[in-house]
Amino acid sequence: MLNKTSWHMPAHMVNAYYSPDSNTIVFSKQQFCKLLFTLLNNLHHKITVESAQSLRHEISHAFDNNGAQFDKEGNLNKWWLDKDYEAFEEKQKEMIALFDGVETEVGPANGKLIVSENIADQGGITAALTAAKDEKDVDLKAFFRQWAKIWRMKASKEFQQMLLSMDVHAPAKLRANIPPTNLEEFYETFDVKETDKMYRAPENRLKIW
Ligand SMILES: [Zn+2]
Repeated sequence: MLNKTSWHMPAHMVNAYYSPDSNTIVFSKQQFCKLLFTLLNNLHHKITVESAQSLRHEISHAFDNNGAQFDKEGNLNKWWLDKDYEAFEEKQKEMIALFDGVETEVGPANGKLIVSENIADQGGITAALTAAKDEKDVDLKAFFRQWAKIWRMKASKEFQQMLLSMDVHAPAKLRANIPPTNLEEFYETFDVKETDKMYRAPENRLKIW
């Protein structure tokens, strides 16, 4: 019998996750400390991109391609209308195509392997942006720069290769660079033109939620 109250990670780990089989979100104590620390360093903002996106990223896992198959009790049970689920499956295919084969330093990304995390990242940044825009003196340049900074990492080629072959998250550079290209605000904020490398034509910008 599944113990729905036990955690899937230790409290000292800096991480958060969503679990469809218990319909719960867990933020470890250390993850909270990290988010609080960034918040204290950015007191002029009511929210920080990291805390805003982190929570919303986990919430949206409840209805990514895995979470969508579990009901509110955490049981494998279809609770979507057929037409909604079919439309969602189309969006999943678009998300796979968006990342599949995109080159990184160590090889091309595998769109299928990373689709659920990419759905959560897109949901995370979109919801964080909506929250940020509620701030009176919102600075969207700072917002997108903070977003990019979240994904900074330093790793050996071998480690990156290992991640590319088995990690369900997209390579960090793609997590930084691709989600913003689906948001109108990104184009307005930085005056992105068709000739710019991060430009994506409006009909190819993917919106899920
Ligand atoms: Zn995730």
